[in-house]
Amino acid sequence: MNPIEKTSRRGFLRNIALLALALPFLGRTTKLFAADETKPAGLPDGATAIPESDPVATAIKYKEKPGKGNKKPCDKCAFYAASNKDWGKCQMLQHIPNGVVAALGTCGSWQPKTK
Ligand code: SF4
Repeated sequence: MNPIEKTSRRGFLRNIALLALALPFLGRTTKLFAADETKPAGLPDGATAIPESDPVATAIKYKEKPGKGNKKPCDKCAFYAASNKDWGKCQMLQHIPNGVVAALGTCGSWQPKTK
């Protein structure tokens, strides 16, 4: 066996060993990044929070967290159908399959519920 083959094989084995040592950490790193993409609290299973950046949401000026003093929350809007206490479907934003809006969100198309 010539020295180049021996070095190459040794390097290969070293790289395999390093990869084996690194795999558990790679898994953790992936989970850390996944944690950054956690879904909002209370989001129903299989549902997608409609982002404010969605073109239709932007057009109606949807805000997921308008803050305190919001007198026109989605859960009091005629276009809202609750999925749970925090999220629900909006008739104005039906173009996103399984898309939901925040119960305490609001937008410029808000209409009072009729009783
Ligand atoms: S205020 Fe009404 S129309 Fe606007 S996003 Fe909320 S539920 Fe939809």
